[in-house]
Amino acid sequence: MTDLAAGKKALNVEAIRKDFPILSETVNGKPLVYLDNGASAQKPVQVLDAMDRYYRQMHSNVHRGAHTLGDRATAAFEGARDTVRQFVNARSTREIIWTRGTTEAINLVANGLAGQLSEGDEILVSQMEHHANIVPWQMIAERTGAVIRPIPITPEGELDLAAFDILLGEKTRVLALTHVSNALGTINPIEKLIRKARDKGVITVIDGAQAVPHFKPDVQALGCDFYAFSGHKLFGPTGIGVLYGREELLEAMPPYQGGGEMIERVSFEKTTWNTLPYKFEAGTPAIAEAVGLGAAINYLESLDRKAVETAEQALLQHANKLVETVPGMQVIGTAANKVPVMSFKIEGLHPSDIGTLLDQQGIAIRTGHHCAMPLMDFFSVPGTARASFAFYNTLDEVEQLFAALQKIQRLFAD
Ligand code: PMP
Repeated sequence: MTDLAAGKKALNVEAIRKDFPILSETVNGKPLVYLDNGASAQKPVQVLDAMDRYYRQMHSNVHRGAHTLGDRATAAFEGARDTVRQFVNARSTREIIWTRGTTEAINLVANGLAGQLSEGDEILVSQMEHHANIVPWQMIAERTGAVIRPIPITPEGELDLAAFDILLGEKTRVLALTHVSNALGTINPIEKLIRKARDKGVITVIDGAQAVPHFKPDVQALGCDFYAFSGHKLFGPTGIGVLYGREELLEAMPPYQGGGEMIERVSFEKTTWNTLPYKFEAGTPAIAEAVGLGAAINYLESLDRKAVETAEQALLQHANKLVETVPGMQVIGTAANKVPVMSFKIEGLHPSDIGTLLDQQGIAIRTGHHCAMPLMDFFSVPGTARASFAFYNTLDEVEQLFAALQKIQRLFAD
């Protein structure tokens, strides 16, 4: 509790909550308790204002250079790209590609690498991947004859590292791995695995969607080739995401989509591609959303990230302690190293009933398969209920969740 007190003091959660207007909403007559941050996080007023200011004072199309508004829009848009570059510690903004989100980023990489894959090549993905880091690879495997090899996990929900060492072989070309599991909260030791993969010349693609809301990735320290994440889980807008890619690899990849912006010169005889990062950004981009994401990162950077982690871990520890107060409750995913995500089931209750009954009490959680069906198969469950916390959640909200679960449990036990 001392750590928590220190973390909360440094973080000033009550002041932070005032930055998020939606947290003052009532839902079904109750004050909102928002514990579905893994699905999408809420936005601080700093992000809303940045987007509003952009549309009121700067909007025009970017990279046209024809007039002042266009210059303002371009400066804001490219400024946001540099904010992202600093956030992930990329060497250059040429390595930062705007996408619609993690899903599009991974599809872009998978399509871009297709030309380098052939019959029998192996793509390692883990059993705990989100569908966004499985299905694009399956589609590419179908096209190229490559084979998907799943890395198994342990009953605690950690990667089976011994199995990984065996699977990483002569035929492995790509390692596509999540930094943090959305359904379990497990933080994978990706640095170690990336090193092993790179030693064998394997391309590494990291799904950072669930990691970046909790800690800053350093792509140079991690040594990965690609790192993808979504703006909306990072307290920024929907419709925008990021693909970091190592410059040499991006240079070697063909464009993902064709159209305006991504070309250097077009003729009916031959079209040539624009330089990085624009080669991968066909069409008018999501300008206001990029600006909003830049503002979200600036907001996060204004917080003490260490204090954020301490406070988040305190929420998780408190939730873990309260599990025994709900008879029949079982946590799925008990890895030693976790972000504040709690997936669970309660004996005799369907996850979707838990979700509906919590909603009636103003508490928002996620229920279902979490777009991780192979993981649900591993745990032999159709789905789970999942509470996912952010730094603006409070211990009191954790307690409200458990009080509500006890109430539901009693209701069904009668
Ligand atoms: N990967 C992980 C681990 C996720 O949690 C999600 C979102 N649930 C995605 C990928 C897909 O992100 P998006 O829908 O924003 O593209």
